Amino acid sequence: MGSINSVTGILDTEKLGMTLMHEHLGTVDANAWKAFPDWLNRSQFIDYAVGQYKKAKNRGIDTMVDVTPLDLGRDIGMIKEVSEKSGVNVIACTGIYGNDYGWHLYKDPDYIAGLFIREAEQGIEGTNIKAGVIKCATHKDHIDKNDERMLRIISRVHRETGLPIITHSIGHSGYEQQDIFESEGVDLRKCVIGHLGDLDDVDYIEKVARRGSYIGLDRFSIDTIQPLAVRVKVLKELCDRGYRDQIVVSHDCMCFMDGRDSLNIFGGTWDDFYKENHDDMEYQYTYVFDYIWPALRKLGMTQDDFDQFLIRTPKTFFEL
Ligand SMILES: [Zn+2]
Repeated sequence: MGSINSVTGILDTEKLGMTLMHEHLGTVDANAWKAFPDWLNRSQFIDYAVGQYKKAKNRGIDTMVDVTPLDLGRDIGMIKEVSEKSGVNVIACTGIYGNDYGWHLYKDPDYIAGLFIREAEQGIEGTNIKAGVIKCATHKDHIDKNDERMLRIISRVHRETGLPIITHSIGHSGYEQQDIFESEGVDLRKCVIGHLGDLDDVDYIEKVARRGSYIGLDRFSIDTIQPLAVRVKVLKELCDRGYRDQIVVSHDCMCFMDGRDSLNIFGGTWDDFYKENHDDMEYQYTYVFDYIWPALRKLGMTQDDFDQFLIRTPKTFFEL
């Protein structure tokens, strides 16, 4: 048993239920939104998102981990409102997405760590809503100096708060993320190395898994990067090699992102788009039931496996 900070208060890990470990309410350029308020209509967006979250809830999703830090346009009040109105528990994050941008780059690392620690211990954006996880990201096949600097800051936040880390990794940078975390005394079991399912290099993923971290097969639905058929094959192979209980299954889904025409979402055609284009990006939190699960069954996987990925593993991770 344990407890986690959710956006509506302390959540008992017994109440986590079926949990998607890497999702977003939406990602938006915070500066663009501030400069051009019509970039995203807040109340219209909330209505749409509540509908999507309710749909997920009706299918069995109890909790979502929202890994949107400040520079992906996190709006904590909006996240809380959608959580309350939909009944889906949401765990918000502190941390960062971009490591090369100036605002934090020329400041004392301890000072930046202190800001993230404040989000975990006091609250986010002036509220008393506390972060439940730490997000960080690297964007190239290998980490560079700025990535390393940020990973050391994130490690400090982890050491101070004890919050688990969920990363975004590209290519082979996940293993190098682990190197930095390890050198900073981070317990690698308290990390999800994210987006490993974008690769089909199972030997490499196994190398990451062997160090104890959780394996993020958390971009199911982004077929443009890796099709579903490959993603499920990788998952099955990792299970066959003995890593079933370290796998985290999620979508990296969102109700809004700058890179998509918002008309697709708000013009009432989003669901049609979903049905017609399921070989493209499948931004729906219910994809796990409609596409992943049927594909896994065909590979001989069982309800017990499914429950492991979505219920038991997230619980174990948060109770560590
Ligand atoms: Zn993401």
